[in-house]
Amino acid sequence: MSYDLGASGAFTLTIGGRSVAGESTFGVVNPATGRVVAAAPDCTREQLDEAVAAARAAFPAWAALDIAERRRHLVSMADAVDAHTQDLATLIVLEQGKPRPVAVAEVAGLAMWLRRTAELEWEETVNQDDGERLSVTRRLPLGVVAAITPWNYPVGQASFKLGPALLAGNTVVLKPSAFTPLANLRLGEVWRDLLPAGVVNVVTGSGDLGSWVTGHPGFDKISFTGSTRTGRAVMANAAQRLARVTLELGGNDAAIVLPDVEVSEVAPQLFWAAFANSGQICLAAKRLYIHEDVYDDLARELVRLAEQVRVGDPSESEVDLGPVSNQRQYESVVSLLSDCRDHGYRFLTGGLPETGTAGLFVAPTLVDNPPDSSRIVREEQFGPVLPLLKYREVDEVVRRANASEYALGASVWTGDPVVGLELAKRLEAGTVWVNEVMHLDPLVPFGGRRQSGIGVESGLAGLLEFTELQTLSVRRSRG
Ligand code: NAD
Repeated sequence: MSYDLGASGAFTLTIGGRSVAGESTFGVVNPATGRVVAAAPDCTREQLDEAVAAARAAFPAWAALDIAERRRHLVSMADAVDAHTQDLATLIVLEQGKPRPVAVAEVAGLAMWLRRTAELEWEETVNQDDGERLSVTRRLPLGVVAAITPWNYPVGQASFKLGPALLAGNTVVLKPSAFTPLANLRLGEVWRDLLPAGVVNVVTGSGDLGSWVTGHPGFDKISFTGSTRTGRAVMANAAQRLARVTLELGGNDAAIVLPDVEVSEVAPQLFWAAFANSGQICLAAKRLYIHEDVYDDLARELVRLAEQVRVGDPSESEVDLGPVSNQRQYESVVSLLSDCRDHGYRFLTGGLPETGTAGLFVAPTLVDNPPDSSRIVREEQFGPVLPLLKYREVDEVVRRANASEYALGASVWTGDPVVGLELAKRLEAGTVWVNEVMHLDPLVPFGGRRQSGIGVESGLAGLLEFTELQTLSVRRSRG
C-alpha cells in the first residue's frame, strides 16, 4: 500500500478560519524512504502577521464566552479529531516515521486530552469580604498564545498546549516543527469550521518562522516544547517584550534498577521505556543504572528483546520501531554511536548503521557500561541507543543519577514500592516514577527542573500558566 501524497501543495495554512496557500512550499520527507511525500506551505512574515491579527481579533469574544461554551468547543474539537483518526495517523506515519498503532494512539491521546482538559475547574480567591473591603483575586487569560512544538509527537505535543490555552480563554497560533507539519495542517482544516474564526490558527515554515514567532510583538505567551538550546533562544527573544514563557525542554532521564527486581518482568518494561518511538521521547529512560547483582542477567534479557523487535518502514509492514525521524536527528545519533566506537565502548547489540541506505534506520543499541564522562551518558541521545551503567551502592547511584544538567523525569524499579518511594524522593527531576515510566495524565502537571525547562504543562497548574492574576479591591467603609 502506498501512502505517497504527491508534492501537490494540497496542504494550506489556517488563518482566521480560512484556508491560505503558501506563497511557496517546502518538501516533507518520509524518514523511512527519503522521499518527499507532500509540500507544506511556507508561511511568510506577512502571513504570520495575519495569523496574529486574526488571533488578536478573535480574543475578546472568545475570552468573554461563558466557560461552559468553551468546554463544549473543546469537546467538539475532540469529536472532530476522533472522526479523522485514520487520516491523521497516516500523516504522522509518513512524516514522523512511527508505527501506525502508535500514531493512532497519539491521535486518540489528543482527543482524550482535549476532553479531560475541558473538565478542569478553577476559582476566584476571596481575600477579604467584610464591612471594610471586598478583595478578590481572579485569573484572566493572557491573550494570544504561540504554541511551538517538536517533531517527535506532532499532534501529541499540541494537545498539551491547545486545550489549556483555549479553555483559559486565550486564542492560539500553532507552529509545528518543519519536519512534521502535515498532521497539524490537517488539524487546522478539521477545526476551521468548528471554531470561531481566528481562535486556532496553524502556520508552518521551513526557515526562520520559529524565531519570527518568538520575536513577534503580537504574542502574549510563548508555550514552547523542544531542545534546551532552542529554548534558551526562545526565552531571550521573548524577553524583549516580557512575553510569558513555558519551556518544556530536553531530558536525560535516569532509570535505577534495584537488585530485588524480577528480571524477566522488568526487562520488557525497561526496554520500551527506552526504545518506544525509537527513543525519541523527552521522558524516555536514557541512562539505565543497574545494580551489579542483576546487571548481567538484565543486560542479556535486554539484548534478547532488542534482537527480536522488527525495525522497518511503518508504511509498508507491521513494525515495532520505525526510523529515526529526520536527517538532523539521525546525524546526531550517528555522532554519538561513532563516539562510542572511537572510545572502544562495547555495543552489546546494534551499533553504527549501514551507510548509503535511503531510510534513517538505526537498530536498537545497548552500550555496555560506558564511563559517566562519556557523551552517551552526559548528552541526550533522543534515539534508539541506551547506555547500561553498573552500580553497587544506593548513595553512589543517587549521586550519579542526579549529576546531570537535565532534570525532567526519572524512575526507580524495585520489588518493594515503599523502598522505591523513598529512593524516588532523593532523585532530582520534575516527575519520578516507581515501577512505571512516562505515565502522563491530563489532570497531572509535568515539567522539567534545571535545564529541562521552566513551568509545567497539564493539570490545573499547567492551565494556570495560560492565565494571569488580577486582584480587585473595593473599599466599603470610609472610616
Ligand atoms: P528543536 O528545539 O529543534 O525544535 C522545536 C521547535 O522549535 C520546532 O517547532 C522548531 O521549528 C522550532 N524552532 C527552531 N528554532 C527556533 C528558534 N530559534 N526560535 C523559535 N522556535 C524555533 O527541538 P526538536 O528537535 O524538534 O525536538 C527534540 C527536543 O525536544 C529534545 O531535546 C526533546 O527532549 C525535547 N522535547 C521535550 C519535551 C518536554 O516535554 N520536555 C517533549 C518533547 C520533546
